[in-house]
Amino acid sequence: MRRKIVAGNWKMNGSKALAQTLVSDVQSQTASLDNGVEVVIIPPAIYVGDVVANAGGSLSVGVQNVGQWSSGAYTGEIAAEMAVDQGCQYALVGHSERRQLFGESDDVVAQKVGRVIGAGLHAVLCVGETLEEREAGRAESVVASQVKAGLAGVAKDQWQRVIVAYEPVWAIGTGKTATAQDAQAMHASLRQVLSEMGAPANEISLLYGGSVKADNAAALFAEPDIDGGLIGGASLVAEDFVSICRSV
Ligand code: PGA
Repeated sequence: MRRKIVAGNWKMNGSKALAQTLVSDVQSQTASLDNGVEVVIIPPAIYVGDVVANAGGSLSVGVQNVGQWSSGAYTGEIAAEMAVDQGCQYALVGHSERRQLFGESDDVVAQKVGRVIGAGLHAVLCVGETLEEREAGRAESVVASQVKAGLAGVAKDQWQRVIVAYEPVWAIGTGKTATAQDAQAMHASLRQVLSEMGAPANEISLLYGGSVKADNAAALFAEPDIDGGLIGGASLVAEDFVSICRSV
């Protein structure tokens, strides 16, 4: 069966203190959950070591981005192998903030997916349409093309390290969530696209992201093709994040 995953993307938020207190709280309150959820904390890279130290074995840890190179003269970048070296199991790739603010193209995203998977991490490929694209009726085609491009280089034996997060850009940090029905429709279409690509689509976890909160998580996660969530703002408050982890 598909893994259920709730991942907290801290973005450029948090502190050494939060990496201690919040992670310890989340760890102690989720360790005994029997709903099979895998809980992942994705802090700024500089705090990965602190989070790993407090994760207590029951939480997984990830990075928000990696460079598309293996090593070398790339000031400010980190490599996928370094994330592994520090105890990570996951890396986000192609978050809409990376695409929009840092100009990450589908081509760069595909290269990063290759690095991440090659290093032995799970790649969480983030895809999603803008409001303009949705209103123009292009949401599904935009998302399909991001998935096809981003995962074009995945080899047959590597699909088990792929996760896709559908995050409509208009829902990120805005308080607007896709309805459970709209999110489900997109996830079903995503699974179809993966299947057409030759991927074992029914085994790939598909996460929803975009203003997931303690009070809307359960309805989203109840949909058959939504296997968990990628959580931004609500992952910075232990109580909210734990409540979302319980809702899977
Ligand atoms: P949000 O962010 O939950 O704050 O909307 C989600 C994300 O960008 O991953």
